[in-house]
Amino acid sequence: MSFLRQTANAFLLTELVAGMWLTLKYFFRPKVTINYPYEKGPISPRFRGEHALRRYPNGEERCIACKLCEAICPAQAITIEAEPREDGSRRTTRYDIDMTKCIYCGLCQEACPVDAIVEGPNFEFATETREELFYNKDKLLENGDKWEAQIAANLVADAPYR
Ligand code: SF4
Ligand code: SF4
Repeated sequence: MSFLRQTANAFLLTELVAGMWLTLKYFFRPKVTINYPYEKGPISPRFRGEHALRRYPNGEERCIACKLCEAICPAQAITIEAEPREDGSRRTTRYDIDMTKCIYCGLCQEACPVDAIVEGPNFEFATETREELFYNKDKLLENGDKWEAQIAANLVADAPYR
């Protein structure tokens, strides 16, 4: 019986037809793949991507150099130096993140009392050298300026769940 079935299948090409039918069935269904990098999938407001230092709307840096982020960072990736300004306010003179050490845990963002250091939505920051991943304050502030609109929108969207 089994021999007869196998012979019939071979002559009638049933496996080939079944395969072609499956292909035809999925041909008209919506695609589940996207054409990255020209198309990008949605990401969560909680996505932990490239770091950024934010400013207030008047341009002043948010960071008050409290060093909580430096203290909590489990990878010891953050290095901060600070001194008072002439007006008495305390600001960083150095804010470095070694992105090769960072494990993207998000604890720095959670610890920050003024929402200064954040992990933004950018995930496309691959580099060709390690040195390019040693971020300094200028680079982090530049990231903040670039992504502020999306970072602020993400913080608002996530606020009810915090
Ligand atoms: S995300 Fe985590 S590992 Fe990376 S700098 Fe922040 S606290 Fe450190
Ligand atoms: S980024 Fe936030 S937690 Fe870190 S030193 Fe500045 S104010 Fe403090």
